[in-house]
Amino acid sequence: MTLMAGCRAAVAVATLLAARAAAAQASAPVAGDGFEVEHYEVALRPDLATTALSGTETIVLKSTRNGLDRLVFSPNALRLRDATLDGQPVAVASTFDGIAFSPAHALGKGDRATLRFQMSGVPAQGIVRTGNGLYTSYFACDWMVCLQDRPGNKAHFSLDLYLPAGIASLGIGRALPLLPFSDGLVLHRWRSTRAYSAYLFGFAAGIFAQEAVGTSVGELVYLDGTGRERNLAETFSQTRSIAQFLADKAGMGLPDRRYTQLLVPKREAQEAATFSLIGEEELDRERQQPSNAWIIAHEMAHQWWGNLVTCASWQDFWLNEGIATFMVAAWKERAFGPSAYQEELEGAQRRLERARASGFDKPLAWSGAYPSLGIRRAIQYSKGALFVDHLRNVLGEEAFWNGIRRFTREHAGKTATSQDFQVAMEKASGSDLSSLFREWVYGDS
Ligand SMILES: [Zn+2]
Repeated sequence: MTLMAGCRAAVAVATLLAARAAAAQASAPVAGDGFEVEHYEVALRPDLATTALSGTETIVLKSTRNGLDRLVFSPNALRLRDATLDGQPVAVASTFDGIAFSPAHALGKGDRATLRFQMSGVPAQGIVRTGNGLYTSYFACDWMVCLQDRPGNKAHFSLDLYLPAGIASLGIGRALPLLPFSDGLVLHRWRSTRAYSAYLFGFAAGIFAQEAVGTSVGELVYLDGTGRERNLAETFSQTRSIAQFLADKAGMGLPDRRYTQLLVPKREAQEAATFSLIGEEELDRERQQPSNAWIIAHEMAHQWWGNLVTCASWQDFWLNEGIATFMVAAWKERAFGPSAYQEELEGAQRRLERARASGFDKPLAWSGAYPSLGIRRAIQYSKGALFVDHLRNVLGEEAFWNGIRRFTREHAGKTATSQDFQVAMEKASGSDLSSLFREWVYGDS
């Protein structure tokens, strides 16, 4: 069992920490400082052959402090022009550190403002071309202007895609009816049904075979983006039972009542707000040995833990990944028996031991830099899962699962910290867990 192809957010965490350190030295404003985005509206005309795109974006934001004279977003390689703030031209500077809009008049705390601009170019990352289309993966703020490293800022997302006739699309939330447009293009309109962190925005366009299955916890949609005419029902045969298992453990059905898995080439494994990218090589590898399977359960677990209940900052990223990793073990216990659960946790223990052998071990909510992505994962994914298992052993079945449900329901649609998780588990169990959380999560500092 491997997580080598797992979610990419940890890459950005390292980048964020390096960027923050650099920003602190230069006293440069950090993306998202002083405001919260409420709504992103993006209209794009992507070139499926080259991934070049052009379009417009509208951002509705609210200032969270007085004297806000710079609105900084994550950097990207797009060219921006014709920018306005509340209808008035606004200066914009796009540098390696970020995209900064400078209003003529500073915003006061609580002020709302609407940014509009046009954009064009080839994103440096975050869009992958396949044989019959393209899909985005993780780096949303490379193909639009947004806040990649502010998971605590959840916003609504509207996406209009202008695509050639005959091309299908996948976006976040619900699709409105298609509208014919000029030049043989068709307008695809996707609207989020709840607010999500920007790192979870995404879309895909191409020629996709599709199947859909109705279940009591929501509709499951399977899309084939490989162009190889795979048997989708067979490829995704585990999905229905995993969805029912996870919905039971979360205490609520699929958050959007609909969840799409897009099968793509190679070993991709990435969650987006209401869909996931599933790499066919990873899935095929698992099919040789079903008890080694993780990708469908892990990415689907993020529908609740990660996407619906999101770490308030990357410092608490273990809440997303540790719980998702634990849920794979819990599902295996249900599907293959207790030894499969133990095997999964022993794998996590081995990864943690390897990190320790290299001289590295930190509490789960540690905010410093990690020496490598593998070691970061050994802590946030593996040690995170081991801690959740430890809580299960300490609290017992009933209190533990009540705590998980309580945490999930209380923070549904919102963000959460390690303290929030502690409070939910303490309330469900009636136990003081402060020393346990100090040992595993916070450390002595
Ligand atoms: Zn993950």
